Amino acid sequence: MKKTTESNVCILTKNRRFLLLICILLLGALIFVFYSWNKSIFETENEARKMAETAEAGISNTVISNLDLENLENISEDKYYIELRNALKFISSIDHKITFSYVLLKQNNQLLVLADSEPYGSEDYSPPGDVYFEATEDDFSVFEYAETVITRSSQDRWGVWKSVLVPIFNDNNQVIAAFGIDYDIKLWYKYAVIQTIYAVIISLALISLVIAIYFFMYKNEELEREKQKLIDSDEKLKESETLFRSIFEQATIGISIGNSKKNVAALIEGRSTVNPMFQKILKRNENELMSINWQDITHPMDIKKDIELFEKFQNKEIDGYDMEKRYLRPDGTYVWVHMIISSLDLENLEGSNHLCLIEDITRQKEVESSLLESERSKSVILNNLMGMAYRCRYDQNWTMEFVSKGCKELTGYSQEELIENKLITFNDIIVEKYRPLVFEKWSEKIRERKRFREEYQIRTSEGNLKWVFEQGQAMYDETGEVLFLEGLIVDITENKEKELKLKYITEHNMLTGICNRVSFEKVLRSESSHIYDKKRAVILVNVEKFNLLNITYGYFYAENIIKLLGAELQKLNSDIIKIFHIAIDRFLLYLDGYKEKSEIEDLCKKINQTVSKILERNNIRVSVGVVELESNFIGAEDLLKKASIAVDGAFCNKEDNFCYFNSSMEKEILRKEAIKNELALVSRGIGEESLILMYQPIINLNTNEIYGFEALTRFKSKSFGFISPLEFIPIAEETQLIVPLGKIIMIKALEFLYIVNKDIDKDIKMSINVSGIQLLRDDFFDDIKEIILNTGVLESNIKFEITESFFSNDLDEINKRINILKAMGIFVAIDDFGTGYSSLSRERELDVDCLKIDKSFIDTLLTVPEENSITGDIISMAHKMGHYVVAEGVENESQKAYLVKHNCDFAQGYLYSKPLLSEDALRYIKEYE
Ligand code: C2E
Ligand code: CA
Ligand code: CA
Repeated sequence: MKKTTESNVCILTKNRRFLLLICILLLGALIFVFYSWNKSIFETENEARKMAETAEAGISNTVISNLDLENLENISEDKYYIELRNALKFISSIDHKITFSYVLLKQNNQLLVLADSEPYGSEDYSPPGDVYFEATEDDFSVFEYAETVITRSSQDRWGVWKSVLVPIFNDNNQVIAAFGIDYDIKLWYKYAVIQTIYAVIISLALISLVIAIYFFMYKNEELEREKQKLIDSDEKLKESETLFRSIFEQATIGISIGNSKKNVAALIEGRSTVNPMFQKILKRNENELMSINWQDITHPMDIKKDIELFEKFQNKEIDGYDMEKRYLRPDGTYVWVHMIISSLDLENLEGSNHLCLIEDITRQKEVESSLLESERSKSVILNNLMGMAYRCRYDQNWTMEFVSKGCKELTGYSQEELIENKLITFNDIIVEKYRPLVFEKWSEKIRERKRFREEYQIRTSEGNLKWVFEQGQAMYDETGEVLFLEGLIVDITENKEKELKLKYITEHNMLTGICNRVSFEKVLRSESSHIYDKKRAVILVNVEKFNLLNITYGYFYAENIIKLLGAELQKLNSDIIKIFHIAIDRFLLYLDGYKEKSEIEDLCKKINQTVSKILERNNIRVSVGVVELESNFIGAEDLLKKASIAVDGAFCNKEDNFCYFNSSMEKEILRKEAIKNELALVSRGIGEESLILMYQPIINLNTNEIYGFEALTRFKSKSFGFISPLEFIPIAEETQLIVPLGKIIMIKALEFLYIVNKDIDKDIKMSINVSGIQLLRDDFFDDIKEIILNTGVLESNIKFEITESFFSNDLDEINKRINILKAMGIFVAIDDFGTGYSSLSRERELDVDCLKIDKSFIDTLLTVPEENSITGDIISMAHKMGHYVVAEGVENESQKAYLVKHNCDFAQGYLYSKPLLSEDALRYIKEYE
């Protein structure tokens, strides 16, 4: 386009130049013609003048002078006249151009013809003196100026002439006449005209030549230009060829020229028509693509549409088409492409009839589908949302701009009623007491740019209260201003009610309905935040051996006792006393703000009094531990630990029944804890050798023979060395570890019993201490049977000692079990008789074989006079009930003497021997003889 304008401009200027040239040439020609004309006229005039002057010279002035000019009518015969006429005739004949020659006179201001060259009598002849009427100013001027005059063309009776008039002077140099020659005007101008014609011809020839040259040059120039153009376009072609190739090779879209055989690519001039990107997208090389039919690698889902369009395209119904389709790759995956098919008519491409462009849109498709999916799920979510999604303004009304369908179900108001506060504002739906909280919380979260989460209550259109949970977030513009708030409000009424119930459950003991440990921890935590200047203390009330209560009487009975206890203790609740039920067998009283320590002691006494009615009836004890809170905060866990330690302390201190926590107790607890852990390991069979059994002989006082041995266990702790059974057995009982440990002990004892009896004639018996916890377990009997079977001992050589304190429990149940043992042939003894709750009357109810009088009774034998001692009575009573009697802790002869005197059957004590290790016990037997 630009080119054409340029060439147009060029042509335009060229035309102008050409016109200018033509103009100049024409002007030059004109000047030349004009000049030629003028020059020819000048030459004609000059020639005529010369001719006339020469001719005039031939006419002698004397001739004229000799003529009688006054009398002209009579001179026609004058010889001079005739001479003059002949001269004139001669002159006229010299040149054919001369038509006339004559001599004029001036007389009386008239010009008269003196003579002319015409023959007499001819029409044109003028007689002498003939007035020349037609004389012009020019004709007169020759007389006036005495110079040769060439007149302007003039007409007279003879025609149109051009005259040359030459003055004829007399001797006095006066003009006496004028000689004239007339030229026919045509002839006069003939020369000039011819000359001018020549000039015109020359000019025209020149102009033509110039024009021809010009055109030639112009054409040449044009040809040059065409040539340049051709050269240029050839270069451009080369350039575009390179450009095309590099585009083809480097294009980021796949390009292929397909042929009518429906191959993906064709081969043209030895080159494949598929570019690298096409190959890359399809993950197939050019050879493959040239041999493969595109239908074979089109995804089945897209093939129908593609074929339809392609057929239309081939039938020229459409110029081309584009579609999104999937191509199959060799690895079985597919690639999404945007494909454009358009026709390609190239002369030299036979059969190649379409151009195929593809662009990999897999990523885009993925994004599209995930977007679609997310849009879809968003709308699904919004409409099926449990609750109400919203977008609102950050104002006092929470003006809603959008609310989801769930609005109606949540609030009872329709979407329309709530949006833009049409009927009601959301703020009005919020229960009044929560409104400031919601606003403050939102404002705070907006300041901190955090998420808002809050539970509060709303009132529905029907006036029902609902608990809701709102979670939302503010959206800000670039200046940080809040644009709107967005979020979700869900109905949590059901959950909230459950939660409140759960809260009640978690914070209360279900048995007594008293606040529990969690709630106590809460109270403590809430108080931790402020500095406390009041005196505070916790009093822990522990029901001793509660587990035994369960085992003996069953859970229902035990729980009932706890309920009664709880009810009694609750009566102590006051402004400064709060009661908590922190574990099934433990109550805690929180004394908040007492003045004197005596108040604590009074309270402890009150507790004991309060519970004593129930306790005495049921033969239970409580121990009370007290911890005074220091001003600095102590966690609930620590506090309870301390209280528990104190309770354990109270257990030892039987006088007061309550005990203050002190830090030395803590050490004991730690020791207890360590022992517990070690025992647990042993109970699992790890380090059984640390349970060491010693055997103390029991002597038959009647025969003085060894009756048997009592197995007494020691525990060799890794941390603390030998530990007395008085320390570790209660721990084992408390933790129920006594069950597996008892089994180990029994195995060891009976294995030793087997060894003892192996080589002697008279059987020696083995007394084994059994805990009540063991006895009350049903598997106890199976274990015994198994051990007896394994060790091969006789049942009749086994005796179980059960401590008296245990018999305070359900006697029927205990007797049942004792009878099972007896039925097996095993002896059963009451150990520590006289220390516990037993009395002789109760002992009667027991189906035991033997009674073991506690050491304290034997000890009294040393201090109390014989007649005052009841020991003898106990022995005789026992005998009356058919029980054997064993005296333990016999340390000296006087005691032995007493016992013998009162018919005690057996004796055991340092007097005979201390507990012995197994090999010592065997030696003892041997040496006893
Ligand atoms: P216990 O059954 O009354 O055992 C008698 C305790 O008195 C033993 O203490 C014994 O060493 C000690 N003793 C014996 N004769 C005399 C004496 O003349 N003077 C003095 N001062 N003490 C004497 P030990 O061995 O410390 O046992 C303490 C308690 O531990 C036992 O009292 C028994 O109730 C329990 N016990 C020991 N071994 C076991 C066991 O294997 N299982 C169970 N369940 N309890 C056991
Ligand atoms: Ca014993
Ligand atoms: Ca004993």
